[in-house]
Amino acid sequence: MSSSPVDLPPDDDLTERLKRLSSSHGEMRRGVGLVSGVFALTLAVLCLLGVLAFHFPAYLTTPELRRSYDVATLRQVLFWSMVLAGGISLANIVLGRVRWLSSIAFLLIALAAVLGGHKVPVNDFADHTPYIGLDWLILDLLGSSLLFIFIEKLFPLRRNQPIFRPAWQTDLQHFAVNHLVVGLILLATNLLVHKLFGWAVKDGVQSWVKDLPFVVELFLIILVADLVQYWTHRAYHEVPLLWRLHAVHHSVKHMDWLAGSRQHLLELLLTRTLVLAPIYVLGFSKEVIDAYIVIVGFQAVFNHCNVSVRLGPLRYVLVTPNFHHWHHSQDQEALDRNYAAHFAFLDYLFGTAVKSDREWPNDYGVLGDYVPNGFKKQFMFPFTWKG
Ligand SMILES: [Zn+2]
Ligand SMILES: [Zn+2]
Repeated sequence: MSSSPVDLPPDDDLTERLKRLSSSHGEMRRGVGLVSGVFALTLAVLCLLGVLAFHFPAYLTTPELRRSYDVATLRQVLFWSMVLAGGISLANIVLGRVRWLSSIAFLLIALAAVLGGHKVPVNDFADHTPYIGLDWLILDLLGSSLLFIFIEKLFPLRRNQPIFRPAWQTDLQHFAVNHLVVGLILLATNLLVHKLFGWAVKDGVQSWVKDLPFVVELFLIILVADLVQYWTHRAYHEVPLLWRLHAVHHSVKHMDWLAGSRQHLLELLLTRTLVLAPIYVLGFSKEVIDAYIVIVGFQAVFNHCNVSVRLGPLRYVLVTPNFHHWHHSQDQEALDRNYAAHFAFLDYLFGTAVKSDREWPNDYGVLGDYVPNGFKKQFMFPFTWKG
């Protein structure tokens, strides 16, 4: 990394080294154990958090996820992750590669094992406790980072952009907070949707929707959700008060799998409530809603990825990374364009699609770069900006 911790003087203490490592960015130096060391440390932290979630499921896990867990599989994942992180860090210690970092990772795994590891028993517990979505954070971080970094390495757009690119810390914090407060968001959106749109529910309409063939119903839910999303998104750009919130999302200067996580909590709450409203009113079936959640979850991350995907002529129909990269561009022809999240044809229909003779934009971010970096500053930005 730019201030490589392996270059630090030997008398620097561990916390200082960790601080340096976590605040640095750039390509990791190869051949010194840093790549495997960072991987082992990340995995070790997730393992320890996983063990904690097993100990306090009532407060650290998400009821909606708990219901669909196969606990035996999760225990296996935890076990093999501990073996992997422990094995890598032990090998690094023996080989004398980034010993300080590998020792921390190994100690964390040892602590996870002492605390019960993958064998922590889960007894009956109360269901309606206030909770944070630690399980959601661990599983999504593990799954998303593995899947999307793999895709990014397979089809890279900007080959020289490292995984730990500038300001990755800010986006990881957004990612963590947005996942941890999942319970609060679910509660608030459900409450708002029922209170504000309950009057619109009609049994006849709902049974008509439920009787549609699966594929038609799926197309309809994505279309309806994207229509709402399109106009909400356009309002974020065209109403100055709303732009304050949305500017945070646009302030990211490097596009990758983590970039889309940069989103103000109020925007998350507002957009989700409005998009869920027609889904609730129209009464889509559970299988269709589940499929939609998977699609929206994938596209939200994929469209920000550092991947060279344009889909040929299909790009006029579906939103691709290319389409959404243009949305994040600072280039003049792309400002306030490409609002759709799923169906690109909405922007062609409403006349807001980017027309450019270049394939990819040059620069990303807010024109003028006036949004500060850092999670806390970005959280306060909409309330403090004097623009
Ligand atoms: Zn936008
Ligand atoms: Zn975006």
